[in-house]
Amino acid sequence: MEKPEWSMDDFEIGKYIGEGKFGKVYLAREKQSGYVVALKVIFKAKLEKYRFHAHLRREIEIQHGLDHPNVLRLFAWFHDAERVVLVLEYAARGELYKLLRTVRRFSERTAATYVASLAGALAYCHKKQVIHRDIKPENLLLDIEGRLKIADFGWAVRSNAKRHTLCGTIDYLAPEMIEKKAHDHAVDNWTLGILCYEFLYGSPPFEAAEQDDTLRRIVKVDLSFPTTPYVSADAKDLISKVTPWH
Ligand code: AMP
Repeated sequence: MEKPEWSMDDFEIGKYIGEGKFGKVYLAREKQSGYVVALKVIFKAKLEKYRFHAHLRREIEIQHGLDHPNVLRLFAWFHDAERVVLVLEYAARGELYKLLRTVRRFSERTAATYVASLAGALAYCHKKQVIHRDIKPENLLLDIEGRLKIADFGWAVRSNAKRHTLCGTIDYLAPEMIEKKAHDHAVDNWTLGILCYEFLYGSPPFEAAEQDDTLRRIVKVDLSFPTTPYVSADAKDLISKVTPWH
């Protein structure tokens, strides 16, 4: 889908999919090719209100440069007087998070497939000097075949140097980010262990009623494995190796 200038006229707009902080997402069909995509429509007034321009520009630049089967494609983007529109790959099965909440936990085979897909996608991003920094189940989408797609590069940075900014959702933060130490691509790898745990047990390992307690538990790597017949010794071994050794 390469074309110098896209506009809303190029698309037939279909059903409304959902709403994020900055815009609404619709199913759409590109008129010439019949190709189905998701359009994320962001109102410029909102961007101004939250001073989000630079952030969005960075997100677009980063995601546009990535092409991997487990990274949601950003095919194109355009804007008019009121809106910025992202033309995205359509992830028909939606958020992995919702699936996980519905089935409560995944089998080891399913969890392994997701973790391997995510590991492959992260290795690709890191090779291209991109750190995502906000890997969590809500940012993982599934396509029509159930293939995992990393989405939402809103916190991503292009970097081979160490960074200091605190970002992301607390349950998935790596200790060095909480301690505001310099961090690098290893913060994404840390989330692989956290997600593997959550996929198998149904909730992330450092969950606590108070945020401060979660942060304390992460910094101490206070990892425990509830007794359950569903999780094998090998899976626990993998999680404890990925987590402290990230
Ligand atoms: P967001 O603005 O990214 O938070 O997205 C708002 C809603 O649309 C969420 O429920 C997302 O799961 C959904 N969504 C966002 N992008 C896509 C996509 N490319 N394909 C399918 N659903 C999406």
